Amino acid sequence: MSGVDKWFGELHVLQDIDLSIDRGEVVVVIGPSGSGKSTLCRTINRLESIENGEITIDGQRLPAEGKELAKLRADVGMVFQSFNLFAHKTVLENVTMGPIKVRKQSKADAEKRARELLDRVGVGAQADKVPAQLSGGQQQRVAIARALAMDPKVMLFDEPTSALDPEMINEVLEVMVGLARDGMTMVVVTHEMGFARRAANRVVFMDGGRIVESATPEEFFTNPSSDRAKDFLSKIL
Ligand code: ADP
Ligand code: MG
Repeated sequence: MSGVDKWFGELHVLQDIDLSIDRGEVVVVIGPSGSGKSTLCRTINRLESIENGEITIDGQRLPAEGKELAKLRADVGMVFQSFNLFAHKTVLENVTMGPIKVRKQSKADAEKRARELLDRVGVGAQADKVPAQLSGGQQQRVAIARALAMDPKVMLFDEPTSALDPEMINEVLEVMVGLARDGMTMVVVTHEMGFARRAANRVVFMDGGRIVESATPEEFFTNPSSDRAKDFLSKIL
């Protein structure tokens, strides 16, 4: 992202954002509520438009709309706080829909790959159930498998464990740590500082629509340079 500005009406929600993420890098985004973290994620795959600047993924500048955008967007997996699974489809169908419709895979190929991914995130036995029959932690792992089924170049996670009961948080974080270890490029908005310490290459601290600090987890947690980050950390740690 280079020189990205976004407004919601009068609100300058993203202010001159410069953020460059290398392939295989895991970037954890933290910051107070309302600082623009979700909006940042949503602009990366153009769920939100931007007013200034540009966003480039794997050498290709994101266009504002059209076929090219749909293609590039398919390279960006997104996992939300609220799972967003299709309630009336089975787990397996949730995972195979995108690959069949967008990637034009055959049903058999898509199902084979979906079962592998569901096994990988530990919910292979749930393939024929509908989401409501699963726990929140299981549903979120299905959502991760669904995103992975598109073979994304980057995965965005927006507070993926915030809606979960405490005992289910770790099973989702473990899957994410595994992905990070396997070299996935990831942008993760989270308040789980344990995850940041274990898996992040970099922590980006946002406040008031700006990136205030960008540092390794070690630097950030032991010696944050800005008062705003110090203040934030004192409240959450
Ligand atoms: P965070 O994820 O860090 O809590 P958000 O990116 O969700 O922050 O929101 C940043 C600011 O933008 C907040 O003040 C929020 O109220 C505002 N905002 C978010 N989405 C919209 C929208 N669709 N329309 C108007 N304002 C919005
Ligand atoms: Mg948010």
